[in-house]
Amino acid sequence: MGIVSFILSFGCRSTDPVATTCDILIINGKIIDGTGNNWYYGNVAVNNGKIIRIGRAVNLPAKKIIDAKGLFIAPGFIDVHTHLEDDEVKDPDATSFILDGVTTCVTGNCGSSNVDIGKYLKWIDSLKLSINVATLIGHNDIRKAVMGRANRDATPEEMKQMEALVDKAMRAGAVGLSTGLIYIPGTYTKTPEIVALAKVAAKYNGLYATHMRDEGDSVTYAIEEALTIGREAKIPVEISHFKLSGQHNWGRSKETVPMIEAARKEGIEVPIDQYPYTASSTSISTLIPDEILADGQDSIKARLQRPDIKNMSSIPCLPD
Ligand SMILES: [Zn+2]
Repeated sequence: MGIVSFILSFGCRSTDPVATTCDILIINGKIIDGTGNNWYYGNVAVNNGKIIRIGRAVNLPAKKIIDAKGLFIAPGFIDVHTHLEDDEVKDPDATSFILDGVTTCVTGNCGSSNVDIGKYLKWIDSLKLSINVATLIGHNDIRKAVMGRANRDATPEEMKQMEALVDKAMRAGAVGLSTGLIYIPGTYTKTPEIVALAKVAAKYNGLYATHMRDEGDSVTYAIEEALTIGREAKIPVEISHFKLSGQHNWGRSKETVPMIEAARKEGIEVPIDQYPYTASSTSISTLIPDEILADGQDSIKARLQRPDIKNMSSIPCLPD
């Protein structure tokens, strides 16, 4: 499917009934306006970086005419699941996104983000990237900032500190809270801690995006946890890379999809995203049992020297 994707979103539309010319006129395209309507043939006039008219009869003299015959004209896509961190400066034109029609990225997913969101967004602005960037505040980094990699519950004082960090991030422009519950220290976190932090994000109309605790054999429990957080914190839940890991789990969407549909009927706003391929990737540390990875490098090394762990014939609890 060919797409002419606007760098401007249709949200930048400002009708200008008096304009008699325009900078760019896109003609003959099939317009998908992003509202859920069917596509229709039409022209789009752009002036001063804004869409000023859309419709079949729009035909203003233009400095530049783009013939979109055989192509779709759509608003820029929003990629809700990216990990831009550390790659922001590699290609400020963000060519790989732009050529896919993506003009806005949401980063900070899977519990991993910058902690100082205000500083991060200022820095992003200074880079003058070709795409828009929104970010979530990552629970793993919040927890590490307050508790390191400790394998235990947060104390009431630590909870207060984490809540304050989420509050600060949301005020600085984060769009919600993310968790990565297969990663350290997210794996050490029980549901009530996430509910408390999600409540802070909810105060600012944020959402809760989650890389769930399990995407394989125990996926239904993990979905249940995500929905519980949505229900208790009264926050929309975005389930990231909704999938079924491990070939023996294929087909279990018969169980998982109805859970999402039932939650929506119940009134929980729960969208999901998915990548359109059967491979997945993550860090190799997820293959090591959680209890080995607690605390600092020295503790991890010491645990790995223990005979009972060294002689382990197989690693239990392998994620799929
Ligand atoms: Zn993830």
